Amino acid sequence: MPVDTTLKPCPFCGGVASSYWHVTHQVVACETCTAGVTDAAPVKAIAAWNRRAAPAADDLRAENERLRTDCASLLAQIDALQVNTGEDLEAEDRAIVDQIRADLRDTQEASHVR
Ligand SMILES: [Zn+2]
Repeated sequence: MPVDTTLKPCPFCGGVASSYWHVTHQVVACETCTAGVTDAAPVKAIAAWNRRAAPAADDLRAENERLRTDCASLLAQIDALQVNTGEDLEAEDRAIVDQIRADLRDTQEASHVR
């Protein structure tokens, strides 16, 4: 059976991986963050990289997308609440709402999917 040597994305950052022979062993490493695996057998190095990469990266991307959607939904709800309440918010409540909005925007910015 032919071996599939296609490298999956990095499990940590989603970056592109490359594979090369280094003196006595095969290296498979992320070109962005340099995370990697090695093995004396090239086929085993590639298999180890791909076995580790797939579930973690796919799960994290799905989780990341869900969190971004949740943040967008919460921001929209806050905007709608402020439209409904207009100027009636007490200064203290307005500060709380502004802090929540800032926290959600920070979370959105930190959760960009490659
Ligand atoms: Zn990486």
